[in-house]
Amino acid sequence: MAPPHHARVRTPHGNACSLPLGLDGSSVTLQRRAGSRSSRSRDARIDAAPPIPPPNALPGVVVRAFGKFFTVQLEDGRELLSTVKGGLKRYRRGTDLVAVGDNVFVTDVGEGEGRIDLVEPRRSALSRLARHTDDTEQIILANPDQALFLFAVRNPEPHPRLLDRFLVMAESRGLEALIGVNKMDLDIAGPEVDGSLARRIFGRYEAIYPVIYLSAKTGLGLNELRRALEGKVTAVAGPSGVGKSSLLNMLDPTRDRSVGEISGATGKGRHTTTATVLHRVPGEARTFVADTPGIRALSLQGVADDDLDELFPEMRPFLGLCRYADCSHRSEPDCAVLAAVDRGEIGRERYESYVGLRNGDVPDAG
Ligand code: GDP
Ligand code: ZN
Repeated sequence: MAPPHHARVRTPHGNACSLPLGLDGSSVTLQRRAGSRSSRSRDARIDAAPPIPPPNALPGVVVRAFGKFFTVQLEDGRELLSTVKGGLKRYRRGTDLVAVGDNVFVTDVGEGEGRIDLVEPRRSALSRLARHTDDTEQIILANPDQALFLFAVRNPEPHPRLLDRFLVMAESRGLEALIGVNKMDLDIAGPEVDGSLARRIFGRYEAIYPVIYLSAKTGLGLNELRRALEGKVTAVAGPSGVGKSSLLNMLDPTRDRSVGEISGATGKGRHTTTATVLHRVPGEARTFVADTPGIRALSLQGVADDDLDELFPEMRPFLGLCRYADCSHRSEPDCAVLAAVDRGEIGRERYESYVGLRNGDVPDAG
């Protein structure tokens, strides 16, 4: 009998880690790289001398960042264009001092401007190591609770390989994943597609991840989406044109964001923007969705080949049952994974994604 799923998970570079991931606020999903200074000492340094916010400072969340400037949204919805207090710059090194998603305390200095006096320790972070510098990570989103990967049933045609790559990335970082299938109003139904095109492509994920079928056009699935997001910070990513802006607009109609504008004008503009923007979803609970185009650039480099199988949840029950302990599940005799694929207990397309990732193929970025 295989051990329970979560007991087998290892960190991206193979260290055993105390699980379940994410339940304990201290088991952080910071991207770490073997050989770099340990994140533990980095965290310790952050936590060593927690400054006390000045009495008039207000709690808020960083929702946008541009160079040295940060937009901080206060609890009443007001936004302050803020800089960072000088003294803060000394105390956090090796990571972005302030990032979108950080919980901060800010002093209102008038005329819509603010000064960030304190950054609360990060519970988790979606990050990558900055290029050209050895030990500085670039935070794509601080304090994410989960990720929503958005595709369209058609226009543009979905690429399950890209979805699988996103899912593996999320698994490797201990981030819960949801799948959104938009443009259901364009779904094709009938015997020629075996029921529904959307279900033929995405149905096989339903046993592994929550799948929400949506239409920004008709409103289908929106309440289900709201429930899945409620009270959480969700990183949203997907190929351009799938309707991400349209859906975010539906969640918050007061948001000023035009649909299809950039890609329509230049055909590419949108691909070059990687900045994260956090949006508050109106409602009782504190709910945020983050537009995180930078997720697409995250590599799987931190994932060792031998660990890849563990990042496919449906493979986990079979791991350890192969004849060879270091089985790669590609052509070895008495491979429990291959046998499960043959019996239909592991989906063939997902298995092929595993082989593709294991062989280092890079799926079309969509
Ligand atoms: P983004 O690039 O993912 O932000 O996509 P947009 O929100 O800009 O939408 C791209 C195009 O798809 C626009 O022309 C939208 O009107 C259209 N669109 C978005 N959602 C839907 C949907 O649910 N159904 C249909 N038919 N079209 C949609
Ligand atoms: Zn095997």
